[in-house]
Amino acid sequence: MPKTKQILEVPDFITVRQLAELMGASPIEVMKELITNGIMASINQQIDFDTAAIVLDSLGYEARPHEAPETEVVQKETTQQWRQFYAGQSSAVLQPRPPVVTVLGHVDHGKTSLLDVIRQTNVQEGEAGGITQHIGASQVKHGDRLITFLDTPGHEAFTAMRARGAQGADIAILVVAADDGVMPTTREALAHVQAAQVPVVVALNKIDKPNANQERAKMQLSDLGLRSDEWGGDTMIVPVSAKTKQGIDDLLEAVLLVAETADIRANPNGKAAGTVLEGRMEHTRGVVATLLVQNGTLKTGDVVVVGVSQGRIKRMFDHRGVAIQEAPPSTPVSVMGLDQPPHAGEIFEVVDTVKIARSIADERKAQIAFDAIVPPVVVTLEDIFKRFQAGEAKELLLILKVDVDGSLDPVKNEIQDLSVEDLKVRILHADVGAITENDVNLASASGAVIIGFNSRPDSAAARVAEGVGVDIRTYSVIYKLKESVELAMRGLLDPVYEDKRIGLAEVRRIIRVPRIGNIAGLYVLEGIIRRNSKARVLRVGKVLAENVTISSLKRFEDDVREVRTGFECGISLDGFHDYEEGDKIEFLVREKVN
Ligand code: GDP
Repeated sequence: MPKTKQILEVPDFITVRQLAELMGASPIEVMKELITNGIMASINQQIDFDTAAIVLDSLGYEARPHEAPETEVVQKETTQQWRQFYAGQSSAVLQPRPPVVTVLGHVDHGKTSLLDVIRQTNVQEGEAGGITQHIGASQVKHGDRLITFLDTPGHEAFTAMRARGAQGADIAILVVAADDGVMPTTREALAHVQAAQVPVVVALNKIDKPNANQERAKMQLSDLGLRSDEWGGDTMIVPVSAKTKQGIDDLLEAVLLVAETADIRANPNGKAAGTVLEGRMEHTRGVVATLLVQNGTLKTGDVVVVGVSQGRIKRMFDHRGVAIQEAPPSTPVSVMGLDQPPHAGEIFEVVDTVKIARSIADERKAQIAFDAIVPPVVVTLEDIFKRFQAGEAKELLLILKVDVDGSLDPVKNEIQDLSVEDLKVRILHADVGAITENDVNLASASGAVIIGFNSRPDSAAARVAEGVGVDIRTYSVIYKLKESVELAMRGLLDPVYEDKRIGLAEVRRIIRVPRIGNIAGLYVLEGIIRRNSKARVLRVGKVLAENVTISSLKRFEDDVREVRTGFECGISLDGFHDYEEGDKIEFLVREKVN
């Protein structure tokens, strides 16, 4: 008689982690089962009932639909509030909080000087000694209102945070030196904040300089779509000087005005959560993490989990280094008590017990180990149509880099008005130059595809893109570029693959193994042999076998993933055994080309 399966109740949607908990199994087991069924899901990803049922079935359980009990509603509400907080929507529990401001702009335009002046002239009451602690952010008071400033200027930090899923800042101050005007990094910084849909206030700095030309800078800003409110636009452009301190009050006033319209709120009574600004190990104090509380009120004694780090907060300090017990939304604090330094941009949350914190941190460690063997999810040009059909995408976000100034507008014009049904192209950022790591970070944070027109990724960009999974396409003919984008939007773009040789080896020895067949003892002549590459066997230039899967790759007794030039190894191929000494084997990987 077949064994009756244990019945488990499953809601309409469940995360991989929750499903594993339900069975008392490891999330890795669930993920493996999903992969077997062709689904790459991360630990926190939700799967629907039907998918969960398949997993349960193959692991020996039976799924039954589950109605959410009352208690779960509370849980849902908290998540909902958190979302509303991010979306900036109002609700009864949400209360105004100080805006969090980041300062961006071209190098030497005065970001650091402005931040310094703002902090010196607007220190909070009782802080006559000025800033004593640098904790990655500070608060200043303007009138009776607080503003939180992130200390690390520049869009790199801002986008790095976004790439980790954190929305650090509510408002960006774009610093433009009035003598220099708009420069390449000004445009780049603007693209980054616009991609994050963060409102911008322009600080037109260095107006004290004799060669300052405010009108010219305003014209350039207007060309970027930042039209001054004096000219009927809706961007506040505030003339300032970090040197003479002129205009600083106006700048803060402008920030607060924008904050009002942006309706910046959080629930001070909700579960505390926020973003890590910095984590480090100190000689005397141990692990110190600086956190920006974004929702709820963080208290000493709270148990926090962040990334793979966790612990109970023993002591907490504000940005002046004063010990505090409670930190409401938008407060930057430094805390002691975590077991290891968290990373900037990670999101922390308060949980009920140390036990829960530990188990979440452990699962994340397992997830990281798992991610190391599973390639990252890539938004590719090919899958944009599928994502559109699945309701996940309404726009095809592109970052466009071209080789020369003269091609920027023509290429932009070719593609920016393309649309198919409701799917539209949106160019997040377009500029002249090589494809850089910053472009890749922006693409990764926004789910965009990078298009290079006669522009290629530099080596750092190529490396990062491969690591985080960003699709980079390069073209040298406009019509090809346009055609690719158009086909992608219609779901008709088939990936084109090309075999690339990564290594070459020579058969030096043949080892006969009964039943298994022959193993070839190889010497790697050039490049690298990878376990997951395909082999092509050659005898005096003639191809004996092609596209052969490697069934094992060993060095001495150990299975290895790769072997480099100058090393020996043993290999067995799937379905090919007739080696002779002196045969050459090429190793190929399939790469996608445009
Ligand atoms: P950052 O690279 O954007 O952080 O720029 P810094 O704050 O380091 O400033 C670059 C240079 O411009 C420094 O030499 C500053 O002293 C100078 N500077 C910054 N703001 C002003 C200003 O308002 N007026 C003048 N004359 N110089 C300024």
